[in-house]
Amino acid sequence: MKFEHTTLGQRVLFGTGEAVASLAAEVERLGARRVMLVGDEAIAAEVAAKIDVAARCTDVAPHVPVANAERARAQAASSNADLLVSVGGGSTTGLAKAVALTTGLPVVAVPTTYAGSEATNVWGLTEAARKTTGSDDRVLPVTVIYDAALTASLPPELAIASGCNALAHCVDSMWAPRADPINQALAAEGIRALNSGLRQITTADGREQTLYGAYLSAVAFASAGSGLHHKICHVLGGAYNLPHAATHTAVLPYVLAFNSPAAPQAAARIADALGAPDLSSLYTDIGASHVLRGVPDAAEAARLILPSVPPSNPRPVTEADLTALLAAAQAGRNPTEWSRA
Ligand code: NAD
Repeated sequence: MKFEHTTLGQRVLFGTGEAVASLAAEVERLGARRVMLVGDEAIAAEVAAKIDVAARCTDVAPHVPVANAERARAQAASSNADLLVSVGGGSTTGLAKAVALTTGLPVVAVPTTYAGSEATNVWGLTEAARKTTGSDDRVLPVTVIYDAALTASLPPELAIASGCNALAHCVDSMWAPRADPINQALAAEGIRALNSGLRQITTADGREQTLYGAYLSAVAFASAGSGLHHKICHVLGGAYNLPHAATHTAVLPYVLAFNSPAAPQAAARIADALGAPDLSSLYTDIGASHVLRGVPDAAEAARLILPSVPPSNPRPVTEADLTALLAAAQAGRNPTEWSRA
């Protein structure tokens, strides 16, 4: 066995019902005096109930438009912020990361979805329908505070899609460019936890399992990098402004079906963690949709995606393969039958 693996340094506090107290203790521990709170949900004010807030940034928008990032950076400067606290989903964490990228301010992240951005050093910014991403350790939150009670208010459809987005981090980590035995082990345990949690997402136990799985999925993804699935969704999301979690949910079964024959060990490990040969029974049981919406032209999208396909993908990918995959997802065909056709 030979591999090179980097572990990102981050403090993780996990406890249901603990967010308010944990955040107050963490702000104290970090010695912060001027907190800028980032988040547009009512939940942000509730979580920050026991800390002094010098500035509030509610300018959150999907995929972090550059203009919003610049306004937030100006607000951080004018308020002399010394700590960013983000409370919200991936779009909120992403806005705090955009401020950290240019200011170097530390971030404490309190996630309220299963997106996982809080556990990666990846930032993303969007301008003129093009999403740019990069890695920079300055944007990795110094502390993540996980409280499964904060995800209880997610509408069921969004909770399912967000959890499937986490599942996609795990599945893609199995064959991503920097896949190694460590991130594959994290991904396998993530799939196991998400498979269990998503089936009981309306319960406190289910939300805890899903949040735990979401954290593992993000650590695996940050380490393994973007595989075929993430490259497809990244291009689609930027080009057509698609909803992030729902797009990942729809595309994932088709990428799994496409890659599995060329990656039998990864496929076996995924199946073992799922307790099923593929995603079909989980998707049926939890009501997740594998119908891709919002892509006007599969062939055009395939042309846009092809240059981003990782050369290390276990199966060679042609433009025709991508067109067929996207067309099958648009039609909502049975992913397993499609891949055998
Ligand atoms: P989001 O943050 O846009 O949230 C989706 C919707 O859910 C929003 O309307 C939000 O207001 C609402 N919401 C959030 N928490 C809620 C709660 N607890 N109760 C009720 N409503 C709630 O979407 P997301 O899926 O969390 O994140 C997607 C974004 O994160 C994308 O831009 C994606 O690129 C990014 N992302 C980045 C990374 C990374 O490593 N940088 C990883 C994953 C996702």
